[in-house]
Amino acid sequence: EEWKDRGAAVGVRRELDKSGRPVVRQIKKGVRDFAFGRVLGEGSYSTVYLATDRQTLKEYAIKVLEKRHIIKEKKIKYVNIEKNTLNRLTEHPGIVRLYYTFQDETSLYYVLDLCNGGELLGVLKRTGTFDVECTRYYGAQILDAIEYMHSRGVIHRDLKPENVLLDDQMHVKITDFGTAKLLPDPRTNPDANSEGTDGLDADNRNGDDGRAASFVGTAEYVSPELLTHKNACKASDLWAFGCIIYQLLAGRPPFKAGSEYLTFQKIVNLEYEFPQGFPPAARDLVERCLVLDPARRLTIEHIKNHEFFNGQPFGRPLWRSKAPRLRPYVPP
Ligand code: ATP
Repeated sequence: EEWKDRGAAVGVRRELDKSGRPVVRQIKKGVRDFAFGRVLGEGSYSTVYLATDRQTLKEYAIKVLEKRHIIKEKKIKYVNIEKNTLNRLTEHPGIVRLYYTFQDETSLYYVLDLCNGGELLGVLKRTGTFDVECTRYYGAQILDAIEYMHSRGVIHRDLKPENVLLDDQMHVKITDFGTAKLLPDPRTNPDANSEGTDGLDADNRNGDDGRAASFVGTAEYVSPELLTHKNACKASDLWAFGCIIYQLLAGRPPFKAGSEYLTFQKIVNLEYEFPQGFPPAARDLVERCLVLDPARRLTIEHIKNHEFFNGQPFGRPLWRSKAPRLRPYVPP
């Protein structure tokens, strides 16, 4: 039972000091400091509650994980990966932020950004498809968040519309880092091979990194290199990005079949089609992301400069801009 942060009800808060450097403050926040409200959702190993900080009245989402259940299901490793990853990714508006962690006898608590807008998948299902403006906007926010996580040495490995949450401004917040791969942090280890394309993914070789389990319902976004070489790299997230762009405009993911096995077959054979009237610039972008060889896929910089994103701001202005009204795509 190696719970990394022992000590009951002691919280850790990450903030920036006066010169903008991240600092970790030990503050005593515990279960009693929050008023728990309704259940926002349930995962296989967790329940997420709406909660209010009694002192500041700020609202959060608190993810509660039952220790006994996690031990029984042998998920301690993934719980720690999620926490360690989130602790590395605290400075970007497009990533769900972890504010405090604490524990009591029975449970672990993660205090997270509240995402009132739900999952991007749910929003997409309501409109069926997104028009080009919405796809460009949400695509840009997802890409900006991917760029940040890659710059911090994190490969998500499970990007899909269920893992893209939306806050009350309908801005993107990426979540679910339980199957992320942590590369040496480029900030503390600038000489490290931060590309992660070395073909040696110890986690995956062990075959127990949770990937197989998370295939359930996720097969559609898995990159071909993961299927053929059991190896994920930064470019694997951009394969998933290409799948998401396709899905926003088409209303369904590019690779979908009756079974997981058949979906994998389609992926490794690059077997997919565009619906009639799919916007040509988006088609070109998707075709350059859905490339079997990860080394030949567009890089983030290339994607930002692609004509599909022509005129689209990235960085700060993107996160200050208002979300467009959701409209379905109407082919010409
Ligand atoms: P599984 O573990 O089975 O893959 P999951 O990853 O979705 O499921 P959780 O991350 O615990 O599990 O999330 C459970 C549900 O709670 C999600 O489906 C989502 O709807 C909701 N949820 C998660 N995080 C937040 C958040 N920060 N704000 C609002 N709702 C959230």
